[in-house]
Amino acid sequence: MGAEEVRCAFRAGRGRVAATDPAQGGRHTRALLHWATFQLPIHLVDYVVAYELAHVRVSGHGPEYWRLLGRALPECRRLKSELDELGRRVWMGDLAS
Ligand SMILES: [Zn+2]
Repeated sequence: MGAEEVRCAFRAGRGRVAATDPAQGGRHTRALLHWATFQLPIHLVDYVVAYELAHVRVSGHGPEYWRLLGRALPECRRLKSELDELGRRVWMGDLAS
C-alpha cells in the first residue's frame, strides 16, 4: 500500500476500534489498535489494519481512499459491512468503528 514506517500500539478503554496519527515533524506514523479488534475473525483484523494503513496515505473517506483500500483488499466494502454488523454484537455497542 506504500505506507512507510508505521508503528503499531495497542490501546484499551472506550473509543474507536483503531486510529492513525499521521507523521509530524519527522516522527513515525502511529496506528493505534484497540485490543478488542483481536476478538474478530482474522480476515476482519486484516481489514482493520489495511483500513488504518490506507489512512497513512489518504485522510478522510473519499473516493481516493476507497480506491487505495480496494487495491489492497478488493472486497473491502463487503468487509466493512461485515465489521459493522459483527462489531455491534462482539463489542455490545461499547466501541464505534
Ligand atoms: Zn477512517
